[in-house]
Amino acid sequence: MPDPIPKTMRAVVYRGINDLRLETVPVPRVGSGELLVKVAVCGVCPTDIKKIQYGTVPPPRIFGHETAGTVVRLGARVRGFRLGDRVALHHHVPCQQCHFCRHRAFAQCPQYKRTGITAGFEPAGGGYAEYVRVMAFVLPGVVRIPAGNSFEEGALLEPVNTILKAVNRLALVRGDTVWVAGQGPVGLLFTRLLAQRGARVLASDLLPPRLRLARQFGARWAVDANRSDFADAVQRLTTGRGLDAAVIAVPSDAVVREAQALVRGAGQILLFAHTRRGAPTAVDLAGVCVDEKDLLGSYSADFTLQQEVARRVFSRRLDVRPLITDRFPLEQTPAAVELAAHPAPGSLKVLVTQVPAG
Ligand SMILES: [Zn+2]
Ligand SMILES: [Zn+2]
Repeated sequence: MPDPIPKTMRAVVYRGINDLRLETVPVPRVGSGELLVKVAVCGVCPTDIKKIQYGTVPPPRIFGHETAGTVVRLGARVRGFRLGDRVALHHHVPCQQCHFCRHRAFAQCPQYKRTGITAGFEPAGGGYAEYVRVMAFVLPGVVRIPAGNSFEEGALLEPVNTILKAVNRLALVRGDTVWVAGQGPVGLLFTRLLAQRGARVLASDLLPPRLRLARQFGARWAVDANRSDFADAVQRLTTGRGLDAAVIAVPSDAVVREAQALVRGAGQILLFAHTRRGAPTAVDLAGVCVDEKDLLGSYSADFTLQQEVARRVFSRRLDVRPLITDRFPLEQTPAAVELAAHPAPGSLKVLVTQVPAG
């Protein structure tokens, strides 16, 4: 017998800049087209960290959107799910009909911009709480977790999706040389997916444990980002031609400028970590116009990739387990966010977990 659902629950509420508090809030009620999910695991995502540290959205909110858990209540009109299903959630789902969706610009779809999962207050994901309400319009994004896979693997589907979407923006041919700047959890996933696509990946980071893992994840070369002969090394590795593409998984403008110098003509530079608005930077636009070096961005997930992402992660062709280094109980969510914002040398993906150990 599943445990009865209580009236109230514990939740970590964002009350202002760097102010996360463990509070008791009502368990969300669900409508006839909705699910109630008991949260097992929620990943700490850089975009939430930014909202918490810079106060870019008004409080109160309950963050956390890389969520996996168990279906514990079904609205009367919900079909295709059963109580007890172990599921991974997607808090944004596009309408697939609007002008933006017809252009596959799903992240710009008005429905997509709405957050469809909440633990209370203005919907913000809700994964840092015991239960979340999953609204009808995001049900198409709910993925069942196979019996042989963990909630933790389920919680990684959303970040993996955002990275596969970004990789798909690159016009690569087998054997191309791609620099991935930054080998945190995001950069490492880029390294893996690019290597699986046949690219020769040059990975850089400042932390030796990350460089070791980058090699395990398929990087052909893994180098200290500060080494003084980095540009020479790129020239050598590409026999003077330059990089075919560079993925910037660190929020550094200097690294973008470096990449602009190091990619070949008609190469591509993909920004993945520049999520903070209001910090203009100098760019030599002739590099874009004359040298045809594309400056691209990618943000958020592509709903149409969800099944492919689930297959890769759950088959462990893309094994995400080595990325998960730190686990915190719900009440220590502020410490989890702090660690993810200022990672220790050995730490990569940080999770808040409510799964009993063992
Ligand atoms: Zn995320
Ligand atoms: Zn749309």
